[in-house]
Amino acid sequence: MNYIIVTGGVMSGIGKGITAASIGRILKERGFDVTAIKIDPYLNVDAGTMSPFQHGEVFVLKDGGEVDLDLGNYERFLNTELTSEHNITTGKVYRSVINKERNGNYLGRTVQIIPHITNEIKERIRNVSDNSYADICLIELGGTVGDIEGMPFLEATRQLINEEGPNNVMLVHVTLVPVLEVVGEQKTKPTQHSVKELRELGLHPDMVVGRCKEPLNKKTKNKIALFCDVPEKAVISAHDANDIYEVPLQLEQEEATDIILNHLNLQSKQKDMEEWRKHVKNIQEPNDEIKIALVGKYTQLEDAYMSVTEALKHAAAEEGLELKIKWINAEKLEQQNKQKIKQQLQKTDGIVVPGGFGKRGSEGKIKAIEIARTQKIPFLGLCFGFQLAVIEFARNVLQLENCGSSEIMDNLEEPVIDILPEQKNIESMGGTMRLGNQTTIIEKQTLAHQIYQRTKIIERHRHRYEVNPEYIPQLEKHGMKFSGKEEKTGLIEILEIPNHPYYLGTQFHPEFKSRLENPSPPFQGLIKTANKNKNPDPNNSNKN
Ligand code: GLN
Repeated sequence: MNYIIVTGGVMSGIGKGITAASIGRILKERGFDVTAIKIDPYLNVDAGTMSPFQHGEVFVLKDGGEVDLDLGNYERFLNTELTSEHNITTGKVYRSVINKERNGNYLGRTVQIIPHITNEIKERIRNVSDNSYADICLIELGGTVGDIEGMPFLEATRQLINEEGPNNVMLVHVTLVPVLEVVGEQKTKPTQHSVKELRELGLHPDMVVGRCKEPLNKKTKNKIALFCDVPEKAVISAHDANDIYEVPLQLEQEEATDIILNHLNLQSKQKDMEEWRKHVKNIQEPNDEIKIALVGKYTQLEDAYMSVTEALKHAAAEEGLELKIKWINAEKLEQQNKQKIKQQLQKTDGIVVPGGFGKRGSEGKIKAIEIARTQKIPFLGLCFGFQLAVIEFARNVLQLENCGSSEIMDNLEEPVIDILPEQKNIESMGGTMRLGNQTTIIEKQTLAHQIYQRTKIIERHRHRYEVNPEYIPQLEKHGMKFSGKEEKTGLIEILEIPNHPYYLGTQFHPEFKSRLENPSPPFQGLIKTANKNKNPDPNNSNKN
């Protein structure tokens, strides 16, 4: 097995995850099977209990793992499906070491960070690589070199390099190269310091990727090479791109692939990035644009809806459209009158109400859904958005005024959305929802069947509440169609309203399986219809 370990320098949030995922993609384009591990040095066992406000979206894997959003980037860039083992956290590592200690597995020895924690880390890494058929295992270490939390992982990395041999492990350091505005100079000192810190820990980068707002110039590359002791060719410029999917092309142009393959002594199996280039071109050179309103609670932090916005982008690119998202804060809608909301939403071509939790903003989302339904604006409701669509319909069509979801309202007379029976007695929060892959059976001659073109699908889930079965007959009688149900239990998975150009809700999260080269059907359907039905906008200069 060959390992590529990606560390980060200077500060977080510079796009290390995208850089690492892009490295995976360029190697995949050369015919290698690549798998990925994300290490998160926080104490949380997984990301399931973390607020999207702090950490961005919680990504859900097929096995139900609730993980860091970087895993989503790996799945999208590598077009693969990963499992919980691919996300190693300090919480997971310590939990299993402490459990082993309690079980007496360490035979009376003092349990220490070195070797017990570091061994556990290496074992987890090797388990993933042994269980995959991959040629290359890409490991991204979260955080920044120098963080206290990251230390055991860096030490484990040092040991791994020794044990596997330096030619089987490539260490890539992604750092920030700021440009000093006054003199317009690219500064390498932060990179020098960060590499120095790595070297003090016994780690020597084989490649330095400089994130910069502009291409690294010759002088900068030369200086980094000299001070950080890497060949100049191995200093790679990763300057700001217009779109994340351009990054693999950028790295390829910088000849990063050849440097990696050289170091790992691997022969390229093929050389052709044409498919990828074609998809990226769809993003770079759209024929027109499409405006989609995203009505959510976490709209201040766009990362909170990363998979949803990526899925929309994939679908738009496929149609040759540039995606314009209009972020609408659901809480603000609560104070606005219907007329104002209507005016706002009618300026968009489609509406998405994504997943969510809790009361805040929920009434605003319901208002937006009502407008989508009555004004016949293409609509996609995901998980919480699906549940709120049922509530809106029950209130305004069935006239059940006091209906709602038992998640957000106490003493409800009409709980049209209610807790799943198996969730009733669960008290602990971590990893206890209905999670991951579940099978849905789709009825023929429905919108769902038209978009998926099959009767059996598998999508990922993350929820505790469901459409209360008691209300299904009434809802159906008034025109809501439940076109997808869980294979065995009959739990409602998909809803739609016939006689509407596009009104679809899913209890599952189709966004997690969307890929640039294979957009998710519910998103594709939304974008297609939204594009067909869109109002000509006289102010739009793109459309002449
Ligand atoms: N809060 C809802 C539930 O638990 C929806 C969850 C979601 O949107 N992911 O069922």
